[in-house]
Formats: sequence, C-alpha cells, structure tokens
Amino acid sequence: MTPEEVKLKVPTKLSQKYYREVFDPAELISIIGLSTFYKREFAFLLEDGNFVRNVSFKTSDDLVKFLAKNPIRRSYVGAVYETPPTKNNTIQKIKWISREFCFDLDLNDYDLVRGCGCQGKEQYCTICWSLVQDAAAFLDKTLREDFGYKKIIWVFSGRRGFHGWVQDKGAGVLTQEQRNSIINYLTLIRDEKRTQAVEKDLKHVIPLRDRILEMVAKSFFLHANDKELKADPFKFTKDQITKLRYNLQKGEQPFSKTYDIILERKQDRDAIFTHIIQHRYPRIDRKVSIDIRRILKIPGSIQDTNGRLCCKVDIKKIHKFFPENAPTVWEMLA
Ligand SMILES: [Zn+2]
Repeated sequence: MTPEEVKLKVPTKLSQKYYREVFDPAELISIIGLSTFYKREFAFLLEDGNFVRNVSFKTSDDLVKFLAKNPIRRSYVGAVYETPPTKNNTIQKIKWISREFCFDLDLNDYDLVRGCGCQGKEQYCTICWSLVQDAAAFLDKTLREDFGYKKIIWVFSGRRGFHGWVQDKGAGVLTQEQRNSIINYLTLIRDEKRTQAVEKDLKHVIPLRDRILEMVAKSFFLHANDKELKADPFKFTKDQITKLRYNLQKGEQPFSKTYDIILERKQDRDAIFTHIIQHRYPRIDRKVSIDIRRILKIPGSIQDTNGRLCCKVDIKKIHKFFPENAPTVWEMLA
C-alpha cells in the first residue's frame, strides 16, 4: 500500500458507524430481492486480511448488525443456494439455485491500451474513464437488443469501474455453459496472452458490427488526436480529419455515413476495425460473468481504500458519472 492509500483508508470504527447509522440495505434488496435473501451467500474481507465466505443472514437487519459490529474491510454478495450457506454447509456442498448475470468492467483490463498515461490502481482521467463508461453503455444496449434483457442495473464498483447486474428471471438461472456462450458472443479480445488479437469475423454478427460502428468507432474518433489519425492504419489526410471532425460535431446523421471514408478503403478496412476494437471495445472480466459462485461488492457498501460508496448509476447518465461523484463515507456521516 502506498502512503496515500494508508492515509485514505477508512478506519474500522468509522465504517462501523456508517453501517450502523446510515447504510440502507434497500439498495441491495432492490437488486437481489427479498424472498431468497436468507439463502444468499455473503462474504467479507476482514481487517486482519482474512477472507470469510459461506456466511448467510436470516434478514437484512441481521446483515446490518453484522456490518456494524465486525471489523470489515470489504463486503460481498454471491449466489442463492438451496439452503443457507454456513461454515458447515459450504457452497461446495449445497445446491446452487441462481445468481444474477453479472458483469465486471475495470480500468485494470485496459492498461495495455490506455494512451493517456494513467497506470496503476488509483489513477484515472476523463480520457481513460470514458472507456468504462462506453463499455457499460455498449453492454447495456447489447444485452437489451440482442438478448432481450430488460432489468439491468449498473453499480459503481467503488474504485475504477462498474458492475452490471442483469436481474431478469431467465438470466438468474442461466448455467455456466450458457453464460459462457453469451460472453463468447460479446468478447472480441481474449487477452490472456496479451496478444490483443481480435477474434471474431464480424461479417457474421451484423447487429454487433453495426453497434460497434455507431458506438465504439464514433467514440474512438471523438477521443483520437490528429497524430493517431495520421498514423497507421488510418493514414488520414488533413482534409479527411477535418471532414471527420466536422461530421462528429454535427452529429445529426448516423455515424456510419461519416464512416464511408473507411469502408471505401477495402484493403485497410480490417486493420482499421481491429485497431478501433483493440482500443475501445468493452473488456469484460469473463470469470465474474461465467462463474456462478463468484461474489461482487455489496451495493451501498464502502470501498475501504478511498471511502467511496458502491452506488447505483443510471445508465442513461453513465457518461456524466465519475468516481468523484460517488458519495464518501465521510460525507454520509457529516
Ligand atoms: Zn487516464
């Protein structure tokens, strides 16, 4: 931990006071529901560094009491099981019932392509933050239009990204295999080996391709500087850049129209597409979405390293949300 982080770290007494006096479990319940609350797994990172899983609570009041009494650094919520998870009835032994289809977007995953110069866990600027804002907007639209999901909630993850929760009934009971195939559809860069290779021939996924043109490519050009646009693979002339900027600012016609200068250049088209996808396409933490036993931070809980709350964010206003807009535990207690 850097000295900066030590200074910011929320003291246990303060977080306990927050959970006792201010924390409202209603936000959590609006996402995970009440009827199966007692069969949910909860997990906690404790002050001493120990991680406890397989905890369940009869009521949300019991959860609040637990948070107000114990030395907790971070708190998480997981899946619903057939019986309440406990130390003896661990989630490995009991039957899994459901969990929302979840998405984790984090600036960490963009470190290789953050051109702004920000690195590390706490750094971000308006340029790189727009990567996760765009990713949430793109995923939200894709999950609604290509998969028909309607109840999608976005939560600020407390530090450098967003969590998406698909609440639709059908989404909750998707198997790991089904989650895996949806994630495969959405994934264009599988970057375990850091190759940055784009893996899909987009001719076969037209809705996705058109959405990439309208959202991802548009955003790429809005953020690109002249130097980038003059270099490979774009090789735009000064006039083309002027035309592009004019069209972007006017913004009234579909962006694909302004995109003609690229589509006409057949020999460079794939390279241009690949470049745009590498730099601005959403990067999803696959494991969080696919592994049905994974846990996510409790909405409304505190990020211990900066005191900010994991708060719900309206997807329609996602581009206006920055980490410093999330309330802090100090503000909430003032
Ligand atoms: Zn940055």
